[in-house]
Amino acid sequence: MLKPKARFDKITDIDTNFFKEKNIKAVILDVDNTLIDFDKKPLDNIESWIESLKKENIKICIASNSIKKPKVSKVAQKLDVPYVYFSTKPFKRGLKKAQKILQVEPQYIAEIGDQLFTDVLGANRMKMFSILTTPLSPEKTLLGEIKRKFEKFVLHKIYA
Ligand SMILES: [Mg+2]
Repeated sequence: MLKPKARFDKITDIDTNFFKEKNIKAVILDVDNTLIDFDKKPLDNIESWIESLKKENIKICIASNSIKKPKVSKVAQKLDVPYVYFSTKPFKRGLKKAQKILQVEPQYIAEIGDQLFTDVLGANRMKMFSILTTPLSPEKTLLGEIKRKFEKFVLHKIYA
């Protein structure tokens, strides 16, 4: 349940051919530390990456656990994609909402994000294709740091 189907450093490292090979017709994207960093700076080349997906008719929806609607909607607007905020990953509610927007069956959807216990677990519970990326920013809080350490520990166990 916690094992990602694939791992990449950044989402912009994922080639559209990868999605084609895996029969992925839509993607659900996390926001914090996946599309933007701690200072809300967008990932380099994210706009051209989004364009390349759109060109291949791969549908896109954002699903962020953030309760800050203005922040999430701003990113979504910039990339011209629909969004779900306060998506409560790993619970199914928000991901189901995103799936409804996408109108694609879960097995053809890749859910991409930087956290094991929200993004990957949520995707796997929904039977979506889970992709784990490396967080864009280092954690700024002690709790965040502990969470990352625990994630690393679990990843190590999974791949041992
Ligand atoms: Mg995140």
